[in-house]
Amino acid sequence: MAGNRTLTIIKPDAFGAGKAGKIIAHLEAGGFRVVAARVMHLSTAQAEEFYGVHRERPFFRSLVTFMTSGKCMPMILEKADAVAELRRAIGSTDPAEAAEGTVRKLYAESKERNAIHASDSDENATRESRFFFAEAGTL
Ligand code: GDP
Repeated sequence: MAGNRTLTIIKPDAFGAGKAGKIIAHLEAGGFRVVAARVMHLSTAQAEEFYGVHRERPFFRSLVTFMTSGKCMPMILEKADAVAELRRAIGSTDPAEAAEGTVRKLYAESKERNAIHASDSDENATRESRFFFAEAGTL
């Protein structure tokens, strides 16, 4: 059965533009509850590790530069079927293709500067939650 927790990051484009409050309000209105949150500036090593699965992609270096360009806001969110529900709520990677009312449609600038990350599986939600929150297993 799908889990009820997932990991999100309000990315540096949205956090730096002062959109964090609006994005959190949007998610809370959609039934998500914030279980843990922090504000941090990712190091290059942290961004490279977090996005390690994309290491061979042509956009990898640009993505790491973007993700280390300013502060971001990782959060653990709770809702029934959290991973699928959050992926639906954030919309497609490219905001030009994102559905109306999704976070990326509302707040993203481009396919790279797309406002928000969301885990794509329960397994990754667990791994990514532990990446940012040492206490994730006990929340
Ligand atoms: P997501 O699961 O929707 O976030 O998308 P992916 O896991 O495929 O990609 C991770 C992140 O890399 C995206 O959220 C974007 O910030 C960035 N990204 C993905 N595809 C591209 C691309 O084609 N070009 C650039 N510049 N960035 C991309």
